Amino acid sequence: MAGTTTQTIKEILKGVFGYDQFREGQEAIIGNVLAGRHTFVVMPTGGGKSLCYQVPALIQEGVAVVVSPLIALMKNQVDRLHAVGLNAAFINSTLPKKAVDEVRKGVLSGATKLLYMSPESLTKKENLTFLQQVHISFIAVDEVHCISDWGHDFRPEYRNIKTALDQAFGALPILGLTATATPKVQQDILKNLAIEDATLFRYSFNRDNLYYSVKPKVQAEKELIKFIKSHPNASGIVYCQSRKKVEELATLLNLNGIQSAPYHAGLESKVRVHHQDAFLSKKVEVMVATIAFGMGIDKPDVRFVIHYDVPRSLEGYYQETGRAGRDGLASICLMFYSAEDIIRIEKFNKSKPAAEREKSQSLLRAMETYAVSGVCRRKQLLHYFGETYSQNCNYCDNCQHPPQTYSGEDCVKMVIIAVQQTQERFGTDHIVHLLRGIEDHYIKSYRHHMLSIFGKGSARDKAFWQSVINQMLLLALLSKDVGDASALKVTKAGGIFLEKGYPILLYEDNTYASSDHDEQPTTINRGQE
Ligand code: ADP
Ligand code: ZN
Repeated sequence: MAGTTTQTIKEILKGVFGYDQFREGQEAIIGNVLAGRHTFVVMPTGGGKSLCYQVPALIQEGVAVVVSPLIALMKNQVDRLHAVGLNAAFINSTLPKKAVDEVRKGVLSGATKLLYMSPESLTKKENLTFLQQVHISFIAVDEVHCISDWGHDFRPEYRNIKTALDQAFGALPILGLTATATPKVQQDILKNLAIEDATLFRYSFNRDNLYYSVKPKVQAEKELIKFIKSHPNASGIVYCQSRKKVEELATLLNLNGIQSAPYHAGLESKVRVHHQDAFLSKKVEVMVATIAFGMGIDKPDVRFVIHYDVPRSLEGYYQETGRAGRDGLASICLMFYSAEDIIRIEKFNKSKPAAEREKSQSLLRAMETYAVSGVCRRKQLLHYFGETYSQNCNYCDNCQHPPQTYSGEDCVKMVIIAVQQTQERFGTDHIVHLLRGIEDHYIKSYRHHMLSIFGKGSARDKAFWQSVINQMLLLALLSKDVGDASALKVTKAGGIFLEKGYPILLYEDNTYASSDHDEQPTTINRGQE
C-alpha cells in the first residue's frame, strides 16, 4: 500500500485498539497482508489473530471479507468492533432480509471496512453477485482448518469457498487463520485454497502452564467429583461424547454440591446461551458439555478441562484443552482413558464412508497412542503438530510419575532393519506384521516373508512394537511422510545409530492397571492456581 508506513500501523494499534505493542507475529503478518500476498497463520488461541485482519482492513481501500463458521458469535464480534469505532457488519442465515439490505448499503457506500460472512452465505449466488459490485481488499478465512477433513472440525461448506471466490473475483489475496493445524491439515488447507505460495507464519503451540495427564476410567464419576472438590471455586469444563452423558454428569455434579450446567446441541438455543452466560459470569463453576461448546469462547480463568470420554482426535483434544489457562496461570488437563471408549469410537468410525473411515481411524490411532504412551505428554503433543521439543517437560503425569523403562537398542535396531529391508515404503502396521512374522496378504504379495528380519520380533505383541515405533518417531530415529501412505523412513540419526549403536532407554506403555498416583501436579514456578 502506497503511503502506509510502520508509523500509521502503530497509530492504528494505539488509536483504534488502544494497544501499545504488537504481539509476536502481528506486525509481520499485517505487513504481508498489506503487500497483497497470500498469508497463512497458525497461532494458538488467544494469540491475537483477529488484529491481523482488522488492521489491514482499516488501512486498505474497499472492504475485507472475513469468512467464519462462528455464526453465533458474529453479532458479538461486530458489536465489539463498533465499540471501538470500527465500521463492521455481518451477513449470515440468522439475519432478516431487511437487515441484509442495510448491510449491503453500507458495503456499497464504502463505509463498511469489515464484512463477516458464514461460508454458506458467501457461497450463495445472490451474495456473490452482490460482492462482484464491491471493491474487496482481501479475504480472511478464519478457523481455516475447517477446510480439511484431516482435522477435527471439518465443515464441508468450507470446501466451496475457493470455487466461489474464483468464479466471482479471480485472484484476491487470501489470509487463512487457525489455532490448530498438523502438517497434514496445513498441506490440505494450502492445496484446497490454492495458496501453496502463501507466506507461512507458524507460532509454537506449547502451553507452558497446562498440566497434561491421563487416568484410567475406573470409578470415573467418583474420581471426577473428588478432583473438582479439590479445586474449590475454580471454573472448569468437563467434555463428554454424548448428550445423554452430559445431562447425567451435570445432574450428578449438582447433586454433589458442585454448581454445574449442561451444554449440547440438543438444548434450545435460549437455554444454551443462558448456561454459557452463567458459566462466563461464574454463576456456575463447571460446564459439562459436548464439543459443541467452546469455540470462540473467551474465558481466561478456566482452571481445568476434563475429558470424561476419550476424544476422537488429538487435534480436537488439544483445541479443547487449550481453553484452559488462557490467563497464563497453572491449569490442569485431565483425560479419562478406557479401551472401551476406543472401541466405541472405532465402531462409530466404521459406519462412515470408506475414505472418511480411514482418516478417522488414523486420527483415533494417534489419540490412542498418546493416551497409553509413557513418554512426556507435551513432547508427544508438540511432535504431533510438527514441532520439535526434545527435553522432558516435567509438567505432565509421565514426567512426574515416570513409567518403567527398558534398554531398547535391540528393538530399535530390528525396526530400522525392517524398514530398510522393505525400502522405506511401508507404514507401521506392515512393519509390525513383518517383525511379528504374520503372513498376511500384503506380506505374501510382496514376498516379505522371505526377508531375514521376518518374524524376528515374534516374542512381543503388536502393542509393544507400535509403542517402539512411536517412540522412535519421537526420538527422530524414524520419520513419517506427511502424505497419505505414511511410509516410515530411517532418518540420518537412525542410520548413525545402526552404524555406531548407543544406549537408548524406552518407556513401557501405561497399563492403567492401577491409579494410585495423585493427580495434583507439583507446581514449579508456574504461578498460583
Ligand atoms: P485469537 O483469535 O488468536 O484467539 P484474539 O484475536 O481473540 O485471539 O485476541 C485475544 C485477546 O488478545 C483479545 O482479548 C485481544 O483484544 C487481545 N490482543 C490482541 N492483540 C493484542 C495486542 N497487540 N496487545 C494487547 N492485547 C491484544
Ligand atoms: Zn512431560
